[in-house]
Amino acid sequence: MADAGKPNWTRKFLAVTFVVLLGLAAAIAYVYYLPLPVLKPAGEKTLSHKIGGKPKTKVRPAKIDKRPTGTIIIDDIGYDMTALKRLLAMGVDFAFSVLPEAPRAADSARLIRASGRELMVHIPCEPIDRKQMKGMRFLQVDQDAAEIRTLAGDLLDLVPGAAGANNHMGSRFTANEKATRALLGVIKSRGLFFVDSVTSWNTVAYQMASGMGIKCLKRDIFLDHDPSARAVQAQLDAFQVLTKEKDGVVAIGHPHENTVAVLGKWVKNGAGGLKIIRPSKMIEHKMHKPTGQQKKQQVRQQGALLYENGKKRAKAGK
Ligand SMILES: [Zn+2]
Repeated sequence: MADAGKPNWTRKFLAVTFVVLLGLAAAIAYVYYLPLPVLKPAGEKTLSHKIGGKPKTKVRPAKIDKRPTGTIIIDDIGYDMTALKRLLAMGVDFAFSVLPEAPRAADSARLIRASGRELMVHIPCEPIDRKQMKGMRFLQVDQDAAEIRTLAGDLLDLVPGAAGANNHMGSRFTANEKATRALLGVIKSRGLFFVDSVTSWNTVAYQMASGMGIKCLKRDIFLDHDPSARAVQAQLDAFQVLTKEKDGVVAIGHPHENTVAVLGKWVKNGAGGLKIIRPSKMIEHKMHKPTGQQKKQQVRQQGALLYENGKKRAKAGK
């Protein structure tokens, strides 16, 4: 037995060495192939991994801006530079739509571009009452498609650097399919977004733009159809309530004295807790707005993240 024991010990020694080496190799491989750290959503702080130490910072899920989101477009820009400057100075992401043939159109567009705000072209379109057009060129239903395309192109050229367009007037024009299609064709070919100002309940513009694959929005509320300060305040209140109710509301206002004053006060007081975003962002926002099912999924994921963070915290000894 004693003789036979010798090779047995060697075998045991070899086996132990083998197991140790195998363990070592496994440890090296583990460290080497350790998965890369997962990128954490913004706002979440990293845990301290000091053994027995407390985490340096509290682990929080990403901070999400939950303010209801709305859009405010100020159109008929190109006349009153003082009003425009006051609106730009409010530091809110209003969008500005310039009437291409207004006397201060080029200056206004330059100022808006320099401020980094979203610039739009306010395209004059035929209303039921043509007297309202005050001598400016405008798109008309009795022009043929080629004429509409040429004039629309000329008007868009007058406001370089614009990201989108909306109609000025147009209660007759936007109710006419053939004419509206010609205008939207130009908007599409230039890669602009379109906002239907909804100056007529018979408008086909939004539906058609959407069908043509143009990024588009439609106006929900006018801030100053009645330009008295009380009416503007009431409309702004309505915008606020509506935005809190359904999110993604689009308002259109004008650079009237009362509109500027009421908006200025509103912004100073925190803009009703709303987040105002430019139309191009609103289009993205609406495209990515989660459905009911996706919302439930997000809540589940948030819950799982909190649970995991809690477990980590417990492990870290807190
Ligand atoms: Zn207008």
